[in-house]
Amino acid sequence: MSVIYMDNNATTAVAPEVKDAMLPYLTEFYGNPSSMHSFGGQVAKNLYDARCRVAELIGADPSEVIFTSCGTESDNTAIRAAIASNPDKKHIITTRVEHPAVKNLCEHLQKRHYRVTWVPVDRKGNLDCDYLYDHLTDDTAIVSVMWANNETGVIFPIHEIAKRVRERGIVFHTDAVQAVGKVDVNVNDAGVDMLSMSGHKIHAPKGVGVLYVRKGTKFSPFMIGGHQEHGRRGGTENVASIVGLGKAAELARSHLENGMERVKKLRDRLEQGLLNRIPNTLLNGDRERRLPNTLNLSFEFVEGEAILLMMDRFSICASSGSACTSGSLEPSHVMRAMGVPFTAAHGSIRFSLSVYNTEEEVDFVIEKLPPIIEKLRSMSPFWKQGSCHAQ
Ligand code: PLP
Repeated sequence: MSVIYMDNNATTAVAPEVKDAMLPYLTEFYGNPSSMHSFGGQVAKNLYDARCRVAELIGADPSEVIFTSCGTESDNTAIRAAIASNPDKKHIITTRVEHPAVKNLCEHLQKRHYRVTWVPVDRKGNLDCDYLYDHLTDDTAIVSVMWANNETGVIFPIHEIAKRVRERGIVFHTDAVQAVGKVDVNVNDAGVDMLSMSGHKIHAPKGVGVLYVRKGTKFSPFMIGGHQEHGRRGGTENVASIVGLGKAAELARSHLENGMERVKKLRDRLEQGLLNRIPNTLLNGDRERRLPNTLNLSFEFVEGEAILLMMDRFSICASSGSACTSGSLEPSHVMRAMGVPFTAAHGSIRFSLSVYNTEEEVDFVIEKLPPIIEKLRSMSPFWKQGSCHAQ
C-alpha cells in the first residue's frame, strides 16, 4: 500500500524536479564555490542563481539571503544577532505558541538574565496584538512572532505587527517556516527585518534553510568561520541542497496561486467529510485565518497517539498535538495556550496537505477515520462519561 502522506508541516517529499536539479552537484560538480578556479567558480554561479530564486519567492534582494542549515538555525541566528547587536537591551517579546526553535531558545535566554514577554492567543489561536504593543519598551531588543502556526495553521497579522514594532525602532523577526510557499510572503510588503524559512517544508531536502536579513539591519553572525555568505555564516555551503532549494523556491512560486487553491479545496473536503461523519469533533484554529493546507481537529475523549497508530495501519500519516514528555502525554503548548479543553486537547490531530495529495486520498481518510474513532471511543471510559454528560 502506498503511503497517504498528510504530514507536510512536519516535512515534505523532495520534488522530482528538485532531485534532478541537485544530482549534478552530488556527482560531477563537486567544486568548492570559494575556490579560485573556474571549476569552483561554476558552482558559485549556480549558488547565486539559487539565491536569486529564493529572493524572488520572498521579494528580497539576493544579497539579503543567507543560507543556513535549517529553520532552527535561522531562528537562533536572528534572535542571537539582535541581542548581540543591542547588548544593553535585555527584553525579548515572543508568543506562547512559537515552534521550539524560538520557544526553547527564549526560555534558555530567560535563565540568562533576559526578560521574556510571552504574548497570549485566544481560543481560536489568534494573537492578542494589543498585549504585544502594550509590552514594547525601550529595553526591547527584538520581537519575534511566527507568520503561521505549525500546529493549527493560524496566520498572524505580521504586516501590522511589523509596522508597530519597527515604529518603535525595535528589530522584528518572523519565523515564516510554515508560511513560505503556502501563502504570499513578501518581506517588503510585510516590512520585516528578519525572516526564517526552511527547505524541507517546501519540497527541498532537509539540512538547508534561509535567514533573510534586511539591508542595514545590525547583524552579528552565529556561525563564525570563513567568509562564506559575506562573513554572515561561516562554513562551506551545502551546495546540492541550496541548488535544490532554489528549484523548490521556483516551484513554490508557480504553485502559489493554482496549486494552493487546489490544496485548500482538498483540505476543506477533508474537514467537511470528517466533521459530518464524526460527532464531538472540534476544529482547532481560526477557520478563516489559516494556511490553506492545514487542518487541526480534536476528536473528544480519545488519545491522539492511539488515532495515529490506528491510521498507520492504513499507511495514513498525520501528527498529533501531544508531546510525549517524561512518560506522560501532555497536550502541546499550543493547545494549552489556546485553552483547548483537556478532553479535546489529547485527541488533536493535524493533517497537513501538499500539492501531491489527491481527492482519492482525501476520500480514503474520510472513509477510514470514522470507524477508528468509534472503536477508540467504545473503549474509552471518558467517552462513556462524556456521552452521559451530553444527554
Ligand atoms: N519553525 C516552525 C514554525 C516550524 O514548523 C519548524 C519545523 O517544524 C521549524 C521552525 C524548524 O525548522 P527546521 O526543521 O528546518 O529546523
